[in-house]
Amino acid sequence: MTLRVRVAVVGAGFAGIAMGRRLAAAGESFVILERRDGVGGTWYDNTYPGVACDVPAHLYCFADVPNPGFSRVFAPGAEIREYLETAAAPVADRLRLRTSLDGASWDGRRWTLRTSTTGEVSDAGDARTVIADVLILACGRLTEPSLPAVPGEFSGPIVHSARWDHDIDLSGRRVALVGTGATAVQLLPELAAKAASVTVLQRSAPYILPKGDRGYEAAERELFEQRPTVLRDLRSTMFDEAEAVFDERAGAGREAARSRALAHLADRVIDPVVREAVRPDHEFGCKRVLFSDDYYESLNLPHVRLIPQALDSYSANAVHTADGGRHEVDAVILATGFRSTRQPYAALIRGRGGRTLEQHWSEGMRAYASTAVHGFPNLFVLDGPNATLPHNSAVLMIEAQADYVTGALPWTRRGPLEVTAEAEEAYAAEIAERSGVWTSGCSNWYVDPRSGRQVLLWPGRAAEFRNRFGHFDPGPYQTREPARV
Ligand SMILES: Cc1cc2nc3c(=O)[nH]c(=O)nc-3n(C[C@H](O)[C@H](O)[C@H](O)COP(=O)(O)OP(=O)(O)OC[C@H]3O[C@@H](n4cnc5c(N)ncnc54)[C@H](O)[C@@H]3O)c2cc1C
Repeated sequence: MTLRVRVAVVGAGFAGIAMGRRLAAAGESFVILERRDGVGGTWYDNTYPGVACDVPAHLYCFADVPNPGFSRVFAPGAEIREYLETAAAPVADRLRLRTSLDGASWDGRRWTLRTSTTGEVSDAGDARTVIADVLILACGRLTEPSLPAVPGEFSGPIVHSARWDHDIDLSGRRVALVGTGATAVQLLPELAAKAASVTVLQRSAPYILPKGDRGYEAAERELFEQRPTVLRDLRSTMFDEAEAVFDERAGAGREAARSRALAHLADRVIDPVVREAVRPDHEFGCKRVLFSDDYYESLNLPHVRLIPQALDSYSANAVHTADGGRHEVDAVILATGFRSTRQPYAALIRGRGGRTLEQHWSEGMRAYASTAVHGFPNLFVLDGPNATLPHNSAVLMIEAQADYVTGALPWTRRGPLEVTAEAEEAYAAEIAERSGVWTSGCSNWYVDPRSGRQVLLWPGRAAEFRNRFGHFDPGPYQTREPARV
């Protein structure tokens, strides 16, 4: 059976939901394909203890779907997932859960999508083939766990943070925590509260600033509920504060922010040997700067041990490090992040002439306006190449991109809409030109090792992106005049 729609969206995280809400408002016929059996994306997959946002929740949500009920400044993951379920409710009848995109090809006029399903498929039909004029990829960028290729056999459980096994009880166990990135700093205090011991394996030390988290009082939540302007003003203040941080990641404010992070470290870590071991040695801002109120304190606990070494191999009941160290543990938790620079969906998409996105991106992901790809007509990618922010909420970028695509849709009614090679090239050159700090030599998840190009971050403020690309301009496209919708 074949389903015919105007627009097919793949993915039901923040990006797919933002897009779906706009498509519904524009009266488009559309479907949202999602391989999981629920919406939320990142917030569906990541359920590890301590998972929470690290951008204030009232900024890490849609501008048009405020949530007075967030319990904390930095909401726990479960609350964000619930929030996304509420935000997706108006497009629930367009959602096809447990449905994977397996391939999509452009035939010169439209996209043909091959899908497969697991279990019972929800409302929008059970077609295996979807034909759509427009394809919108909202497949995420932090979805495929990066699993270190480590020799040896470990007899206990090995769990990646994004595939948490809630049946494992770590109480009284000896646990190895591999990695010291954004997830590890959330996990360590939780693990330390339960486990008999935690051995933290650190390949490179991050810069960490205080997070300043706190719970909202019932009276505050009530005020947000009753006076929406108060919440709007709060979001606006949070936005301004976050935007100011850009300068501290990539501009002249870096030295002052670095000093604050080092003072935070010196203030919180008691043991001078550990203090030295967690002192970062890379340029400030090159790797993601982290926020935590309790990671450093956890390192002071007598049953927590920091080993400034990478995981090298396993044996039956131990992890081994490159310096020859052997550490007996009962369970291994991998907080090793995601395969971010090469997205699996790229191999599935065949554009003009049968060329895949993976081929087009053989030297790294790229897209004009971080959204449109030459050779792939009527295709848009949300939260893909150069759409991440080093300093502010990802949702701001997603919303701007979804507005851009909404503006482009009328143009696709007359025929294929394709960005020119020149526009894509010039945009990529601009990104490269502005990416100095992230290509300054540290190892981070923004740089594609095949080319050394920075492929994940938008190298500017969120406001600049919105001003330039929060609305559609047909200038850089091969197109005809738009039709009236
Ligand atoms: C633990 C964690 C915490 C984070 N905290 C923050 C934060 O505080 N602030 C911030 O700005 N960002 C944060 N991020 C980044 C976060 O990924 C983005 O903010 C945002 O959630 C991404 O939304 P998305 O819709 O683009 O992608 P995702 O949420 O990843 O959703 C993509 C969806 O596409 C689906 N999909 C993929 N491929 C297919 C396919 N072939 N067929 C069908 N479905 C498919 C996936 O199942 C998934 O549901 C965090 C990320 C992680 C992992």
